[in-house]
Amino acid sequence: MLRLKNIVKNYKVADSYVKALRDVNLSFRKNEFVSILGPSGCGKTTLLNIVGGLDKYTSGDLFINGKSTKEFKDRDWDVYRNHRIGFIFQSYNLIPHQTVLGNVELALTIAGMSKAERVKKAKQALDKVGLKGEYNKRPNQLSGGQCQRVAIARALVNDPEILLADEPTGALDTQTSIQIMDLIKEIANERLVIMVTHNPELAEQYSNRIIKLLDGKVISDTNPFSEEEELEEVKQIEQEKLERLEKQNSKKKSTKEKAKMSFWTAFKLSFQNLFSKKARTILTSIAGAIGIIGVSLVLSISNGVRTYIKSMQDDMLSGNPVSISQTATDLGALMENSTMTEKVKALKEAGFVNVDSMIEYLISRSSTAENFMISNDITEDYVKFIEEMPKDNVASIFYDYGIDVTNNIYTDFNIGEGHEKQNLSISAIRTIYKSILEETEYKNYSGYITSLSETFMQAPNDEDYILSQYDVLEGKVATEANEIMIVVEKGSLMTDLLLTQLGYLTQDQFMNLIDKATDSENYKTSLEKGKFSYAELMGKSFTYYPNDSVYTETGVSLSPFAYNYQSKLLSNGYNFEIVGILEAKENVSYGCLTSGFFFTEDFAKKFIEDNKNSKISEFMKAKEDQSITSMKYQGIPTGITYTYSYHYNGEEKTATGYVGTANQLATMLGTIGMNMGESYSLSLQEVGGNTIPYQIKIYPNNFEEKDVVLEYLDKWNSEEDLVVGGKTVKASERNDITYTDNISIIISLVNTFIDIVTYALVGFTSLSLVVSSVMIAIITYVSVVERIKEIGVIRSLGGRKRDVASLFIAETFIIGLTSGLFGIGFTYLASFIANLAVSTTGVISAIAIFPWHNALIMVTVSIILTLISGLFPSMSAAKKDPVVALRTE
Ligand code: ADP
Ligand code: MG
Repeated sequence: MLRLKNIVKNYKVADSYVKALRDVNLSFRKNEFVSILGPSGCGKTTLLNIVGGLDKYTSGDLFINGKSTKEFKDRDWDVYRNHRIGFIFQSYNLIPHQTVLGNVELALTIAGMSKAERVKKAKQALDKVGLKGEYNKRPNQLSGGQCQRVAIARALVNDPEILLADEPTGALDTQTSIQIMDLIKEIANERLVIMVTHNPELAEQYSNRIIKLLDGKVISDTNPFSEEEELEEVKQIEQEKLERLEKQNSKKKSTKEKAKMSFWTAFKLSFQNLFSKKARTILTSIAGAIGIIGVSLVLSISNGVRTYIKSMQDDMLSGNPVSISQTATDLGALMENSTMTEKVKALKEAGFVNVDSMIEYLISRSSTAENFMISNDITEDYVKFIEEMPKDNVASIFYDYGIDVTNNIYTDFNIGEGHEKQNLSISAIRTIYKSILEETEYKNYSGYITSLSETFMQAPNDEDYILSQYDVLEGKVATEANEIMIVVEKGSLMTDLLLTQLGYLTQDQFMNLIDKATDSENYKTSLEKGKFSYAELMGKSFTYYPNDSVYTETGVSLSPFAYNYQSKLLSNGYNFEIVGILEAKENVSYGCLTSGFFFTEDFAKKFIEDNKNSKISEFMKAKEDQSITSMKYQGIPTGITYTYSYHYNGEEKTATGYVGTANQLATMLGTIGMNMGESYSLSLQEVGGNTIPYQIKIYPNNFEEKDVVLEYLDKWNSEEDLVVGGKTVKASERNDITYTDNISIIISLVNTFIDIVTYALVGFTSLSLVVSSVMIAIITYVSVVERIKEIGVIRSLGGRKRDVASLFIAETFIIGLTSGLFGIGFTYLASFIANLAVSTTGVISAIAIFPWHNALIMVTVSIILTLISGLFPSMSAAKKDPVVALRTE
């Protein structure tokens, strides 16, 4: 059935050839036991490997059942080995990390047989060689004889037509050799056995044909196979084959010969290998995981910070509402202006002095500076437009009329013991303290009294919204026109400055505070006032008087109005009731109210209703009509003065007070020692003469819904006609209104910053990914070197190059997967611990959040990187010559 014709095998060594076989002509019968004898190095193993299709002949031909193998492809040789050949080696060549059963199964695994069938067949083969019950032992738990029995079982399990044994008893003692030979003899009853040995006695005793080799040539053959005989046999085999085919056709079952291992099988084999080297696998995975951990942690923290900022957004939103003002600075335009400097770049030409376009620069600068100032014309239609906004996305809308009530609200002012109580306007009390401070060496700081705290402010007209951010310490939220409420700072604090301006502290107590701060000997503990009871705070009375009581006409053209800073001459008083004390909730950092006294929107409306047609308002409107529009809200500059008396160091003094708002710049310069003289102005809106809000603040429910609000606001600036208050307002009738959305600008700035930092850090940590990839490539290569025998065995059993490659690819896949899983596992753990640590600070609840889709990506990255790094070692493993692989010790 096998015929070697003029077979020559040369091995190339350096520049010359080793002639291992020189013109060998041999034929083998379908069923005989052939022994090949010869001294070491005469070419026995080479002959066997060529017969087994493991090695290629240099010239000549090998006929299998009369068919030439000259045109055989790798694939054909693989199938031939897997189905027709069984190999037995002197050194057994068992795979150490597989069980006995696993080793025997391997040939069937490569053939792509199902698990159940494989186990059944492998067990049968093991039973046959006398290893019943030893299935689950490992090769290192067996004796040499037992190992060779496993090898024989492995060779037989595929029921091959040819068994090739290369010195099968070479490593065994005499007793065991006999047992093994008996076994082989038995096998030879039904197939062709070619056994290489250098033991002539064994050959004589067991085989029925002995071929002697010397220097690559056949020198004797005890039972040659004649050509006529062979032709006969080939005919007979063809006949058998035809019969078999017919039988199969009738069964309609295709049994195309194949040798194929599924990737899943490769995966399981690799898994077993890795499992037998636990320590190394774990170390490799940890090493591979380091890069993954680095990148994952960066992503986790960046995501955590982003989430924290997102959670802060809603909180910050209540302190930074979307606002529409008659005048404001456009932060957004300011931010975009950084590109401006590009224009200044002068052309540089060598050998000349070049002209720098300074004029162009200055002009473009000044025009952009103007662009930063928003000037909005808030009309009645616009106010209606805002009022008609769908309220689903809005927590509250705050209409700020810009009224200054401090000239109209009066309360008790007390100098101290031995002085009579006075009832003065809040603005007058403030002015008195300013005068007093100006007497002291701290005169430069007198402006602080007015500029550091506001006393009376308007609260949003939304009790629920206020209650969502504030705890009521006492009483309730102010809702009526005659109700006011006190908002204290966190920790139930109110500044002494505020209490002083509202007349809660006597003048003596206030002076005592200065003495205390300056370690003056005048300081008296008896005048110390460290706390107020709720009843004390709420018990003080505040009275409001309308403009026509407060301002009286003088008939003098330079100062047309007089201001009554004392209430004793006033009429039409309206008493306030302090109904509650509020404090911001624990988790609210930016509430809709600051600290101070708050009146309701109802009162603001009453104030405007009372005062819009007051004498002073009418006077201002008349002046306004004459003035140019940009001066519209300037009102009366330094128009209203009054003379008041105050006490300092036991003396009664008099001074001139001004009604209105101090010029900010003058106050500021005064603080740094540059006294420009006082400058005050009182505007129409401050006295309640303006029925249109000067500022509208919109508080969206949360950051997402803010966009819906903005979308609505944008409609005003669109080209479409709008229906407002039941009538159509054409686009041409509307002036564009620019709203301020500072919070978005800040958040987007912060997010950009986080992006940059994240990219940079991911870039850095990716370096460690490269390092671990290289390391995995090295480890896989080491593994290839270690498993070179196994590669040879797999190939000798008919495994394809691809099978070998997929074995190592599977191995790197597993390592990549464990590295990835370990990496993200560690990241989750580290994130958890980090969050636990930061949560104890109470500021942030979670700093590191690792989303599952990022985790998934990182595992994939890990697998892909290790696969790439394992690819080259795997390819080199696949290319290994099986003969060389098996010869390696
Ligand atoms: P035997 O099995 O009879 O001891 P071999 O068939 O192993 O002999 O070797 C025959 C000759 O071929 C020896 O000289 C050996 O050194 C040489 N040879 C075998 N394999 C190779 C190889 N892969 N490369 C180079 N020379 C080889
Ligand atoms: Mg040999």
